[in-house]
Amino acid sequence: MREIALVTGSSRGIGAKIAEELAKMGCDIAINYNKNRDKAETLAKYIKDTYNVQCLTYKCNVSIKSEVEKMHSEIVRDIGEVTILINNAGIAQQKLFTDITEEDWDNMFDINVKSAYLCTKSVLPNMIKVHRGTIVNIASMWGEVGASCEVHYSASKAALIGFTKALAKEVGLSNIRVNCVSPGVIDTDMNQDFSEEDMQALCEDIPLNNIGSADDIAQTVAFLVSEKAKYITGQIISVNGGMII
Ligand code: NAP
Repeated sequence: MREIALVTGSSRGIGAKIAEELAKMGCDIAINYNKNRDKAETLAKYIKDTYNVQCLTYKCNVSIKSEVEKMHSEIVRDIGEVTILINNAGIAQQKLFTDITEEDWDNMFDINVKSAYLCTKSVLPNMIKVHRGTIVNIASMWGEVGASCEVHYSASKAALIGFTKALAKEVGLSNIRVNCVSPGVIDTDMNQDFSEEDMQALCEDIPLNNIGSADDIAQTVAFLVSEKAKYITGQIISVNGGMII
Protein backbone atom coordinates (compact mmCIF):
# COMPACT_ATOMS: atom_id res chain seq x y z
CA MET A 1 0.00 0.00 0.00
CA ARG A 2 1.27 3.49 -0.87
CA GLU A 3 2.59 5.35 2.16
CA ILE A 4 2.92 9.12 2.40
CA ALA A 5 5.31 10.37 5.07
CA LEU A 6 5.51 13.85 6.56
CA VAL A 7 8.83 14.41 8.31
CA THR A 8 8.90 17.68 10.24
CA GLY A 9 12.22 19.53 10.34
CA SER A 10 13.73 17.49 7.52
CA SER A 11 15.84 20.14 5.78
CA ARG A 12 18.93 18.82 7.59
CA GLY A 13 20.22 16.64 10.44
CA ILE A 14 18.21 13.71 11.74
CA GLY A 15 15.03 14.67 9.85
CA ALA A 16 16.84 14.72 6.50
CA LYS A 17 18.20 11.19 7.09
CA ILE A 18 14.77 9.95 8.16
CA ALA A 19 13.24 11.39 4.96
CA GLU A 20 15.85 9.59 2.85
CA GLU A 21 15.43 6.30 4.70
CA LEU A 22 11.64 6.36 4.31
CA ALA A 23 12.03 7.17 0.59
CA LYS A 24 14.32 4.13 0.32
CA MET A 25 11.38 2.07 1.65
CA GLY A 26 9.24 3.46 -1.20
CA CYS A 27 7.30 6.12 0.71
CA ASP A 28 6.35 9.41 -0.92
CA ILE A 29 7.81 12.19 1.17
CA ALA A 30 6.74 15.65 2.38
CA ILE A 31 9.85 17.50 3.56
CA ASN A 32 9.08 20.27 6.05
CA TYR A 33 11.49 23.12 6.70
CA ASN A 34 11.33 26.44 8.49
CA LYS A 35 14.38 28.47 7.39
CA ASN A 36 16.61 26.31 5.18
CA ARG A 37 14.76 26.26 1.89
CA ASP A 38 17.84 25.55 -0.23
CA LYS A 39 18.83 22.50 1.81
CA ALA A 40 15.24 21.20 1.74
CA GLU A 41 14.99 21.59 -2.04
CA THR A 42 18.40 20.02 -2.70
CA LEU A 43 17.39 17.03 -0.57
CA ALA A 44 14.00 16.73 -2.30
CA LYS A 45 15.66 16.67 -5.73
CA TYR A 46 18.18 14.05 -4.57
CA ILE A 47 15.42 11.87 -3.10
CA LYS A 48 13.23 12.12 -6.23
CA ASP A 49 16.14 11.34 -8.57
CA THR A 50 17.54 8.52 -6.47
CA TYR A 51 14.50 6.68 -5.13
CA ASN A 52 11.85 7.38 -7.77
CA VAL A 53 9.22 8.54 -5.26
CA GLN A 54 7.31 11.80 -4.96
CA CYS A 55 9.10 14.28 -2.73
CA LEU A 56 7.98 17.87 -2.20
CA THR A 57 9.04 20.61 0.22
CA TYR A 58 6.79 22.63 2.52
CA LYS A 59 7.81 25.75 4.40
CA CYS A 60 6.02 25.78 7.74
CA ASN A 61 6.81 26.85 11.27
CA VAL A 62 5.31 23.79 12.94
CA SER A 63 4.59 25.67 16.16
CA ILE A 64 1.97 27.85 14.42
CA LYS A 65 -1.50 26.36 13.95
CA SER A 66 -2.43 28.26 10.77
CA GLU A 67 0.87 27.28 9.10
CA VAL A 68 0.45 23.60 10.01
CA GLU A 69 -3.13 23.58 8.69
CA LYS A 70 -1.95 25.19 5.44
CA MET A 71 0.95 22.71 5.07
CA HIS A 72 -1.38 19.78 5.70
CA SER A 73 -3.94 20.84 3.12
CA GLU A 74 -1.18 21.43 0.56
CA ILE A 75 0.29 17.95 1.15
CA VAL A 76 -3.14 16.36 0.73
CA ARG A 77 -3.65 18.34 -2.48
CA ASP A 78 -0.17 17.62 -3.91
CA ILE A 79 0.61 14.07 -2.75
CA GLY A 80 -2.32 12.63 -0.76
CA GLU A 81 -3.29 11.85 2.83
CA VAL A 82 -0.42 11.40 5.27
CA THR A 83 -0.12 7.82 6.59
CA ILE A 84 3.23 8.25 8.39
CA LEU A 85 4.01 11.25 10.60
CA ILE A 86 7.46 11.83 12.08
CA ASN A 87 7.42 14.64 14.65
CA ASN A 88 11.13 15.47 14.46
CA ALA A 89 11.45 19.28 14.31
CA GLY A 90 13.03 20.63 17.45
CA ILE A 91 15.36 23.13 19.05
CA ALA A 92 17.76 22.96 21.98
CA GLN A 93 19.23 25.64 24.23
CA GLN A 94 21.80 25.53 27.03
CA LYS A 95 21.05 27.92 29.90
CA LEU A 96 21.08 27.91 33.66
CA PHE A 97 17.53 27.42 34.91
CA THR A 98 17.65 30.85 36.58
CA ASP A 99 18.44 32.48 33.20
CA ILE A 100 15.62 30.81 31.25
CA THR A 101 13.13 33.53 30.33
CA GLU A 102 9.40 33.03 29.89
CA GLU A 103 9.98 33.56 26.17
CA ASP A 104 12.68 30.82 26.09
CA TRP A 105 10.33 28.48 27.91
CA ASP A 106 7.36 29.14 25.63
CA ASN A 107 9.48 28.92 22.50
CA MET A 108 10.93 25.55 23.59
CA PHE A 109 7.49 24.09 24.31
CA ASP A 110 5.91 25.60 21.19
CA ILE A 111 8.52 24.13 18.84
CA ASN A 112 9.21 20.84 20.62
CA VAL A 113 5.76 19.92 21.96
CA LYS A 114 2.95 22.05 20.53
CA SER A 115 4.24 21.20 17.04
CA ALA A 116 3.62 17.49 17.70
CA TYR A 117 0.10 18.28 18.94
CA LEU A 118 -0.66 20.42 15.87
CA CYS A 119 0.83 18.06 13.27
CA THR A 120 -0.75 14.99 14.86
CA LYS A 121 -4.12 16.75 15.06
CA SER A 122 -3.95 17.52 11.35
CA VAL A 123 -3.25 13.95 10.18
CA LEU A 124 -5.07 11.85 12.78
CA PRO A 125 -8.70 12.23 11.56
CA ASN A 126 -7.84 10.60 8.24
CA MET A 127 -5.74 7.89 9.91
CA ILE A 128 -8.74 7.07 12.10
CA LYS A 129 -11.04 7.09 9.05
CA VAL A 130 -8.86 4.68 7.05
CA HIS A 131 -8.00 2.64 10.15
CA ARG A 132 -4.21 2.77 9.74
CA GLY A 133 -1.24 5.02 10.37
CA THR A 134 2.02 5.33 12.25
CA ILE A 135 3.46 8.23 14.23
CA VAL A 136 7.00 8.48 15.57
CA ASN A 137 8.02 11.28 17.91
CA ILE A 138 11.68 12.20 18.29
CA ALA A 139 12.34 12.88 21.97
CA SER A 140 15.78 12.83 23.65
CA MET A 141 17.61 10.90 26.33
CA TRP A 142 17.52 14.15 28.31
CA GLY A 143 13.74 13.79 28.45
CA GLU A 144 14.32 10.43 30.16
CA VAL A 145 17.12 11.31 32.57
CA GLY A 146 17.26 15.14 32.65
CA ALA A 147 20.15 17.41 31.62
CA SER A 148 21.67 20.13 33.76
CA CYS A 149 21.41 23.57 32.07
CA GLU A 150 18.69 22.21 29.78
CA VAL A 151 15.67 22.08 32.07
CA HIS A 152 13.23 23.46 29.49
CA TYR A 153 14.61 21.16 26.76
CA SER A 154 14.50 18.11 29.06
CA ALA A 155 10.96 18.97 30.21
CA SER A 156 9.76 19.40 26.61
CA LYS A 157 11.18 16.01 25.60
CA ALA A 158 9.67 14.35 28.69
CA ALA A 159 6.34 15.83 27.56
CA LEU A 160 6.75 14.14 24.16
CA ILE A 161 7.35 10.83 25.91
CA GLY A 162 4.09 11.22 27.86
CA PHE A 163 2.31 12.31 24.68
CA THR A 164 3.50 9.14 22.93
CA LYS A 165 2.41 6.75 25.68
CA ALA A 166 -1.02 8.36 26.13
CA LEU A 167 -1.89 8.73 22.44
CA ALA A 168 -0.81 5.14 21.72
CA LYS A 169 -3.41 3.92 24.23
CA GLU A 170 -6.12 6.13 22.74
CA VAL A 171 -5.67 5.25 19.06
CA GLY A 172 -4.57 1.61 19.20
CA LEU A 173 -8.11 0.46 18.46
CA SER A 174 -7.95 2.49 15.24
CA ASN A 175 -4.88 0.47 14.20
CA ILE A 176 -2.64 3.51 14.60
CA ARG A 177 0.75 2.97 16.24
CA VAL A 178 2.52 5.76 18.13
CA ASN A 179 6.13 5.35 19.22
CA CYS A 180 9.04 7.48 20.28
CA VAL A 181 12.74 7.38 19.47
CA SER A 182 14.93 8.85 22.18
CA PRO A 183 18.35 9.73 20.76
CA GLY A 184 21.52 10.19 22.79
CA VAL A 185 24.27 12.49 21.46
CA ILE A 186 24.01 12.65 17.66
CA ASP A 187 26.39 14.40 15.28
CA THR A 188 24.27 17.24 13.80
CA ASP A 189 24.19 21.06 13.76
CA MET A 190 22.34 20.90 17.09
CA ASN A 191 25.64 20.08 18.80
CA GLN A 192 27.82 22.46 16.77
CA ASP A 193 28.43 24.77 19.74
CA PHE A 194 30.09 21.99 21.73
CA SER A 195 33.91 22.11 21.56
CA GLU A 196 36.04 19.10 20.53
CA GLU A 197 36.89 18.63 24.20
CA ASP A 198 33.19 18.68 25.19
CA MET A 199 32.44 16.03 22.54
CA GLN A 200 35.43 13.94 23.67
CA ALA A 201 34.19 14.15 27.27
CA LEU A 202 30.69 13.10 26.17
CA CYS A 203 32.21 10.18 24.25
CA GLU A 204 33.85 8.93 27.41
CA ASP A 205 30.39 8.65 29.01
CA ILE A 206 29.11 6.51 26.13
CA PRO A 207 29.66 2.75 26.55
CA LEU A 208 29.95 2.27 22.77
CA ASN A 209 32.51 5.13 22.86
CA ASN A 210 31.35 7.10 19.85
CA ILE A 211 28.89 9.85 18.97
CA GLY A 212 25.77 8.61 17.19
CA SER A 213 24.88 9.48 13.59
CA ALA A 214 21.62 10.73 12.09
CA ASP A 215 21.55 7.41 10.24
CA ASP A 216 21.42 5.50 13.56
CA ILE A 217 18.17 7.33 14.36
CA ALA A 218 16.78 7.03 10.82
CA GLN A 219 17.27 3.24 10.78
CA THR A 220 15.31 2.92 14.02
CA VAL A 221 12.49 5.13 12.73
CA ALA A 222 12.35 3.09 9.51
CA PHE A 223 11.97 -0.09 11.55
CA LEU A 224 9.24 1.43 13.74
CA VAL A 225 7.09 2.52 10.79
CA SER A 226 7.56 -0.79 8.97
CA GLU A 227 5.40 -3.90 9.15
CA LYS A 228 8.21 -5.55 11.13
CA ALA A 229 7.11 -3.37 14.07
CA LYS A 230 3.38 -4.03 13.65
CA TYR A 231 2.97 -5.15 17.29
CA ILE A 232 4.98 -2.28 18.77
CA THR A 233 3.19 0.80 20.10
CA GLY A 234 3.54 3.22 23.00
CA GLN A 235 7.27 2.49 23.29
CA ILE A 236 10.25 4.72 23.89
CA ILE A 237 13.22 3.30 21.97
CA SER A 238 16.52 4.69 23.26
CA VAL A 239 19.27 4.99 20.64
CA ASN A 240 22.16 6.30 22.68
CA GLY A 241 25.16 3.97 22.53
CA GLY A 242 24.28 2.77 26.02
CA MET A 243 24.67 6.24 27.60
CA ILE A 244 22.60 6.60 30.76
CA ILE A 245 23.80 9.43 32.97
P1 NAP B 1 19.15 20.21 13.74
O1 NAP B 1 20.29 19.65 12.96
O2 NAP B 1 19.32 21.47 14.50
O3 NAP B 1 17.89 20.32 12.75
C1 NAP B 1 16.67 20.83 13.25
C2 NAP B 1 15.60 20.69 12.19
O4 NAP B 1 14.37 21.16 12.76
C3 NAP B 1 15.87 21.54 10.95
O5 NAP B 1 15.42 20.86 9.81
C4 NAP B 1 15.01 22.79 11.20
O6 NAP B 1 14.54 23.41 10.01
C5 NAP B 1 13.83 22.17 11.93
N1 NAP B 1 13.09 23.15 12.71
C6 NAP B 1 13.49 23.85 13.80
N2 NAP B 1 12.50 24.65 14.23
C7 NAP B 1 11.45 24.46 13.38
C8 NAP B 1 10.15 25.00 13.29
N3 NAP B 1 9.71 25.92 14.16
N4 NAP B 1 9.33 24.56 12.30
C9 NAP B 1 9.77 23.64 11.40
N5 NAP B 1 11.00 23.10 11.43
C10 NAP B 1 11.83 23.51 12.41
O7 NAP B 1 18.65 19.16 14.82
P2 NAP B 1 18.77 17.56 14.87
O8 NAP B 1 19.93 17.22 15.69
O9 NAP B 1 18.60 16.98 13.52
O10 NAP B 1 17.48 17.26 15.77
C11 NAP B 1 16.28 16.67 15.26
C12 NAP B 1 15.45 16.21 16.45
O11 NAP B 1 16.21 15.25 17.21
C13 NAP B 1 15.10 17.34 17.41
O12 NAP B 1 13.79 17.17 17.89
C14 NAP B 1 16.10 17.17 18.54
O13 NAP B 1 15.63 17.68 19.77
C15 NAP B 1 16.24 15.65 18.57
N6 NAP B 1 17.48 15.21 19.21
C16 NAP B 1 18.69 15.54 18.70
C17 NAP B 1 19.85 15.12 19.37
C18 NAP B 1 21.24 15.46 18.88
O14 NAP B 1 22.20 15.18 19.61
N7 NAP B 1 21.41 16.01 17.69
C19 NAP B 1 19.74 14.35 20.53
C20 NAP B 1 18.48 14.03 21.01
C21 NAP B 1 17.35 14.47 20.33
P3 NAP B 1 15.33 24.64 9.28
O15 NAP B 1 16.72 24.12 8.99
O16 NAP B 1 14.55 24.90 8.04
O17 NAP B 1 15.33 25.77 10.22
